[in-house]
Amino acid sequence: MIDLRSDTVTKPDEAMREAAATADVGDDVYGEDPTVNDLEARIADRLGTEAALYFPTGTMANQTAARVHTERGQEVLADRQSHVVKYELGGLAQHTGLQVRMLDADRGVPSPERVAAATVTEDLHRPGTGLLCLENTHNARGGLAIDPEKIAAAATAARERDVAVHLDGARLFNAATAFDVPITDLTAPVDSVMVSLSKGLGAPVGSMLAGSEAFIERARRTRKLLGGGMRQAGIIAGPALEALENIDDLETDHENARLLADGIDGVDGFDAQDPETNIVLADVSGTGLEPAAVVERLRDRDVLATQFGPTTVRFCTHRDVAREDIDATLERLEAAFD
Ligand SMILES: *Cc1c(COP(=O)(O)O)cnc(C)c1O
Repeated sequence: MIDLRSDTVTKPDEAMREAAATADVGDDVYGEDPTVNDLEARIADRLGTEAALYFPTGTMANQTAARVHTERGQEVLADRQSHVVKYELGGLAQHTGLQVRMLDADRGVPSPERVAAATVTEDLHRPGTGLLCLENTHNARGGLAIDPEKIAAAATAARERDVAVHLDGARLFNAATAFDVPITDLTAPVDSVMVSLSKGLGAPVGSMLAGSEAFIERARRTRKLLGGGMRQAGIIAGPALEALENIDDLETDHENARLLADGIDGVDGFDAQDPETNIVLADVSGTGLEPAAVVERLRDRDVLATQFGPTTVRFCTHRDVAREDIDATLERLEAAFD
């Protein structure tokens, strides 16, 4: 089976299993797990923030960030296609009582003018804007890598208006790889950032939230509130530390995505968006089939992909698919849609 549904499907390698077995552990709710503390320090250092906190999931980290940055009833500015809007079960409303002002932004990042126009000041009738949420890479728009200037422009416009900025960087290492810039170029303009270790980097479990000492102190309480206070978490933080060794391999996933997209484009009825990172979105309307039927036909040939929209199928490259798997995928795709 060649599994291109998501980069979350990777399985821990030998080094990660070894790290899990041998991790030095303690009770992390007491702050006593040395492996977790090491991971948090290493991530803060890498992202250029004062502190960082280990979370079981990116969703919990994003929701925690939103809750810490805002007050109940405030507005959040976010792209209509963003993960916090589309895929987190309305958590901004459920957990924190926030109202989302959705923007349709070019490449998913609003211009400074859009940020300025969408920000509302608190008064008798209006709740005030508490947060701007950005996403990089942008998942639903096809793994778009957003450049540091665009992030900085939007973030600056918000912060000038006393609006905090959170960056959902589930795949931020992919964005830094795509631009070949230090990841701190992408984190410097924002107040907080979430990065996932369980996607392209291949860790079995975990995402990090990073920001100032004061922010992380409050995030620690919110994580506990949401039920995310973990005990001997070094067992999963150990493999996550191993995953940091895999950052340089992301370029291979990007190369594989480009090969895959080129090949897909050559198949009748398929139109692939040029991938900027490890996600390939293919419009399949030319096949005359629904995306679900396309996915089904591929599954019959042991290739897994995801239905991703009314006419779109998503393919995602990752550490557990090799160049040969890309070649095999294309052969099977051609055979299936001959
Ligand atoms: C996967 C993802 C998340 C959430 O991560 P989970 O660990 O699955 O909760 C958040 N934002 C983006 C952009 C993602 O792709």
